Amino acid sequence: MRFCRFNDNRLGVVRGTQVHDVTAALDSLPALRWPAPQGDHFFNHFEALRPRMQALADAMPGMPVSSVRLLSPVGNPGKIVAAPVNYQLHLDESRADKAINFGTQVKTIADYGVFLKASSSMIGASQAVVADWAERRIDHEIELALVIGKKAFRITEGQALSHVAGYMIGLDMTIRGTEDRSFRKSLDTFTVFGPHMVTADEISDPNQLDFELQVNQQTRQKANTAQLIWNVQKLIAYASQAYTLYPGDILMTGTPEGVAPVLPGDTMHARIDQIGEMTVAVRGTHNEV
Ligand code: MN
Repeated sequence: MRFCRFNDNRLGVVRGTQVHDVTAALDSLPALRWPAPQGDHFFNHFEALRPRMQALADAMPGMPVSSVRLLSPVGNPGKIVAAPVNYQLHLDESRADKAINFGTQVKTIADYGVFLKASSSMIGASQAVVADWAERRIDHEIELALVIGKKAFRITEGQALSHVAGYMIGLDMTIRGTEDRSFRKSLDTFTVFGPHMVTADEISDPNQLDFELQVNQQTRQKANTAQLIWNVQKLIAYASQAYTLYPGDILMTGTPEGVAPVLPGDTMHARIDQIGEMTVAVRGTHNEV
């Protein structure tokens, strides 16, 4: 199943080019009291919601996906975990290019481990990335992103994929410079997810997916997740050694070679096989409508 969040927080099931409004399925979610439990409320109850969403999608008329405003499929991720330098050719280009490394020594993912991005940086495909940090290079990074579906603490690589709810395209927007990754990659609008989430049962092997990012119709990044240094299972198992992964937590798997700057007015087009494609605008200010 493919589902999206759209317009004013409607829930949609995507079938082909059509989206079916299944927001009524959320009526069965239990009421929340403060403090909310760990995890995203929707993903904490996703398996129970799923048959209701399917039934409503059968009953509700479709409308073109192109006519709706796409938000991030996950509403309230507890954390966004991300992998640094997880493709060899991106490691090579980062070491070779001072405009990427800023004079710092680029180490390996085994040296860095994983890092966290602020959940407040998250947007969906129809919301624009804002590149307004004067005099600083802001890069695109296309990444396979996955959503945790089942609580995971200190699990093995063999157990990892059974804890995944589904997959999305992720964009890890980044200011190049010497500051901590958690700062440079957490500005408002710097984490894009979409266009929808595809449930894990529809992805034959997350480590065998072609993907591509174009800017203004020019290919910038093109790779396959088979080239990941730490594959999907290893990343999940590794992250779970440090902290409990809760339903709705998101993991971004890292970007391949070809990172390059975007400027206000640019249009990014991202595609991952078996997931889909999305177009994301870059703007120069938060004030545009
Ligand atoms: Mn990245």
